[in-house]
Amino acid sequence: SRRVILKDYVEGYPTEDHMELLPAADVDEAAAAEEGSVLVKNLCLSCDPYMRPKMARPQEQWYTEAYVPGTTITGFGVAQDYSVIKPPFAGQLTKIRPEDGLPLSYYTGVLGMPGFTAYVGFHRICAPKAGETVFVSAASGAVGQLVGQFARLMGCYVVGSAGSKEKVDLLINKFGFHDAFNYKEEGGDLAGALKKRFPDGIDVYFENVGGKMLEAVLANMKVHGRIAVCGLISQYNLAAGEKGAEELRARNLVYLISKRIRMQGFVEPDHKHLYPEYRAWVVPHIKDGKVVYVEDVVEGLDAAPGALIGLFHGRNVGKQVVRLANP
Ligand code: NDP
Repeated sequence: SRRVILKDYVEGYPTEDHMELLPAADVDEAAAAEEGSVLVKNLCLSCDPYMRPKMARPQEQWYTEAYVPGTTITGFGVAQDYSVIKPPFAGQLTKIRPEDGLPLSYYTGVLGMPGFTAYVGFHRICAPKAGETVFVSAASGAVGQLVGQFARLMGCYVVGSAGSKEKVDLLINKFGFHDAFNYKEEGGDLAGALKKRFPDGIDVYFENVGGKMLEAVLANMKVHGRIAVCGLISQYNLAAGEKGAEELRARNLVYLISKRIRMQGFVEPDHKHLYPEYRAWVVPHIKDGKVVYVEDVVEGLDAAPGALIGLFHGRNVGKQVVRLANP
């Protein structure tokens, strides 16, 4: 059995050199597992953007503990039987109740952390109403594709941005966004791109990227608009003092005052008690085909570091999953 370790703290973009695949001796010695440990077989692993801030030197600003160089890069996954999960992670295992006909990998996506994030972020933090205008960035990803669909189901007008033509096509043709654009092809005029799609302004912004996109959105928000700050992925790889880094951060914050905008950050674990409500709501929608979910699946642990790195270059199309075994 093997594991991926973090070799050293990351500054700037993570590369394969920051990670290493090593044998997992503790799994081979499973028989001697300490009390409270659980033996599971990993079926699929989840690659998520929050793992990047955990690869940096411990920083006050982040809300979860940093990884320790030389140790395993931990994350979400779906498991069945074998791999020793020790305390404190053993206490974080959730027994899943497989849904007929739905892939187990969905528990890393639409039925797991990203799906639940989309639900609480959109329905609770954004407090949307039917007929409102909604904008979502990183809209084809694990979280964004669902926010767009939830907004459509709510009767909102929803537009998404993403980084390739393939993704923009998915937004419109698969997820039912009313409009979408490739933010890399707007000649740097993101405010103009938004103005074209929202001539009367944006009521609700589901923020996944930050930086220049946030700056452009602020200029296009309506008075009394709401912004749910889910993530700021464009900022995660900026190294302190890096040339040009300041240019990639958002200005325009004064609009928060003049437009009376409510901007609220949130973290999904704070809302755990709502998970059963989310599950009961979303499963019938998936089964009826009203909510669809696109995954980007790579095979085997060797592909895991590259898949994780790919998130920060937009290589994933949909939720990034690493498949290790079949049930
Ligand atoms: P995605 O599946 O959307 O993957 C990341 C995507 O971000 C990439 O595919 C890429 O898409 C886009 N991206 C990468 N770098 C940049 C950049 N510099 N500028 C603009 N876009 C970029 O990830 P998730 O859906 O899992 O996560 C989306 C956001 O939600 C992240 O910011 C994450 O940290 C946050 N999050 C927050 C949670 C919370 O509890 N608050 C929980 C879960 C996620 P593209 O090709 O479109 O550029």
